[in-house]
Amino acid sequence: MNSDCLFCRLIRGDLPSHRVYENPDFVVLLTIHPVNPGHAMVVPKEHIGSFYDVEDALYTSMMFLVKRMALAIKDIFEPLQVVMETSGVGNRHVHVHVLPVYGLYDLVPREVVEEQEAHALPADELVMIAGDLAAYLASHP
Ligand SMILES: [Zn+2]
Repeated sequence: MNSDCLFCRLIRGDLPSHRVYENPDFVVLLTIHPVNPGHAMVVPKEHIGSFYDVEDALYTSMMFLVKRMALAIKDIFEPLQVVMETSGVGNRHVHVHVLPVYGLYDLVPREVVEEQEAHALPADELVMIAGDLAAYLASHP
């Protein structure tokens, strides 16, 4: 537990939250700033600052819980799609957003999508990037 961490304080109950589910390793909370109603966060109880540091067994059980939440959101809210998004820029408490979306602009502002579409990468650059990533994965099994 980290006393400066918002998520640790929510998990401890120092701050009020809307707790959807809890087991020995995780809590699921509703965000107070939802993209759409039903927007939840799967949060490990242990303070882990980066996804790079989540050990494999905990990561696997976290993603099973994310899937379980996605199915619940799908059945209750009937969105176009349920999206999961890892969060945190910088060193924060690892968590996964699970949220219903009803269209592309729920998540990405129209200006950002238009900017992306206007600056599509040329095919040869995509080939080079795919090659770099494939080579990395091949050398880091
Ligand atoms: Zn924390």
